[in-house]
Amino acid sequence: MKKSAIVIGSGLGGLSTALRLSAKGYKVTILEKYTKAGGRLNTIEMDGFRFDMGPSFMSMTYELDELFKSTGIKNPIQLEELDPLYQVYFEGQDKPRIIWKDLEKLGKEFADIEPDLAAKVDKYLTRAGEFFHDTEGKVVKSNFNSKLGYALSLTRVPMKHLPYLFKTMWSEVEKNFSSEEVRIIFSLVAFFLGATPFQTPAIYSLLNYTEMRHNGYWKVKGGMYKMVEELLRLLKERDVEIVYGTEIVGFNNNNGSLSSVVDQNGKLWSADIFISNADAASFRGEVLNRKAYTEEKLDKMHWTLAPFTIYIGVKGKVDNLMHHNYFLGSNFKGYADTIFTSSISPQKPYYYVNVLSKSETDCAPEGHENIFILCPVPDLRYKKDWSDKEELANNIIDDLSKRTGFDINSNTVVKKILTPEDWASTLNLYKGSGLGLAHDIDQVGAFRPKNKDEKFNNLYYVGASTTPGTGLPMVIISSKLVLQRIEEDHGTV
Ligand SMILES: Cc1cc2nc3c(=O)[nH]c(=O)nc-3n(C[C@H](O)[C@H](O)[C@H](O)COP(=O)(O)OP(=O)(O)OC[C@H]3O[C@@H](n4cnc5c(N)ncnc54)[C@H](O)[C@@H]3O)c2cc1C
Repeated sequence: MKKSAIVIGSGLGGLSTALRLSAKGYKVTILEKYTKAGGRLNTIEMDGFRFDMGPSFMSMTYELDELFKSTGIKNPIQLEELDPLYQVYFEGQDKPRIIWKDLEKLGKEFADIEPDLAAKVDKYLTRAGEFFHDTEGKVVKSNFNSKLGYALSLTRVPMKHLPYLFKTMWSEVEKNFSSEEVRIIFSLVAFFLGATPFQTPAIYSLLNYTEMRHNGYWKVKGGMYKMVEELLRLLKERDVEIVYGTEIVGFNNNNGSLSSVVDQNGKLWSADIFISNADAASFRGEVLNRKAYTEEKLDKMHWTLAPFTIYIGVKGKVDNLMHHNYFLGSNFKGYADTIFTSSISPQKPYYYVNVLSKSETDCAPEGHENIFILCPVPDLRYKKDWSDKEELANNIIDDLSKRTGFDINSNTVVKKILTPEDWASTLNLYKGSGLGLAHDIDQVGAFRPKNKDEKFNNLYYVGASTTPGTGLPMVIISSKLVLQRIEEDHGTV
């Protein structure tokens, strides 16, 4: 008889694990709390408008190729590279700065404020690229059984990278670039890790390398949710069952193994192995009642910033927006240092805007545009009350209208706002933290909640808050790492 596996959660990590397990011969069932698959990689549909709910681009796309190849399928997802990568509107400047992947074009774009930019970026990216390639295999794509094993693998990383560990991302960009604007632009990738560049270690300048030189940024033809739809199609072909509206809230165990998990209606779900795609830290606390993960202890861990997201369908075309856009204020450090631990909504918010309809015609009615706004805000540990959500949304929309010269309010056809409370309650994101546990040095590698349970020999974890970390390519790598664990422990089926 086939061995059975239950995957708790249908985020990209859960779906990728289910695909890999089904290819290995497991009978897989996915239990999902929400009404749709995808987790944060989800979709929102309103009156002819279709929005990607969270992620709007992907890097390291070769991880997708690897996922499909490992299960004997050609990657069915069509990707399109972004160049220019994005544009950045600075407060008080009418014209945005265009961020080109091509360094010659980038140099010209900033010639008035940063002489020799192409040469500076080349040096900066070469350094970040060396770090990326010296660590990708040894640290990012490895399972660790102990802190000692992790420390040993770090000793195989060339010593020249050591200073990266003790500097912040901001000090690294300060050293390499002279203008405030260029420094800010190169430090924005820290927000992709859900933190500010003033906290993020300099090692993550490797993200600049991945965006600008290595593999670049890609969007998915048909919208990001196409990835989920394709995975669902393949899982169906392999008889993987997905049960929606099913939240796991308890468990039963027997002789050091998990025998079943229990849903909100008290129904028991049994299998040979279990893989939790729910947050690896909070699942251990809230469902397994582990002492190392009580609310008090979880609250003391470092969590990434929470998302405040707005989805607006408008009549007309907003010419001054492109696929990816950043809108920044004038006091970057002051803003970053205070806003994210405050209980008050930002008055002059910094935000990101994505317009899928710039490249996809079927996601909005003809002559309309769909605008997705993401504003990083404090999580529910700091700001519990989001009854001021309309005020913050209006603040952002007014600012965006002024800076693009397009009256969003009077052209709005549909609108939806999601606060950290919504993200937390819909997908069980701990206190609304958007990207899960942060990536401080003491929360990565062997210091991150492990992908194998400490107590039960048939319980595993996949996704953003276990190894290696957050982001779409990382959770695909996470699914590969967890399969290695399962095969080590339980052999092949
Ligand atoms: C606003 C936003 C924008 C982002 N943009 C990007 C981007 O552009 N590029 C990028 O690479 N990454 C981006 N990310 C990060 C990326 O979305 C995540 O890292 C990734 O999708 C996480 O996938 P996952 O598999 O770990 O888990 P999730 O997507 O969180 O999925 C977990 C699933 O488990 C379910 N679940 C939880 N608890 C239970 C339970 N007890 N019982 C049953 N089901 C449960 C949840 O409902 C959910 O469906 C973004 C994230 C956010 C929030």
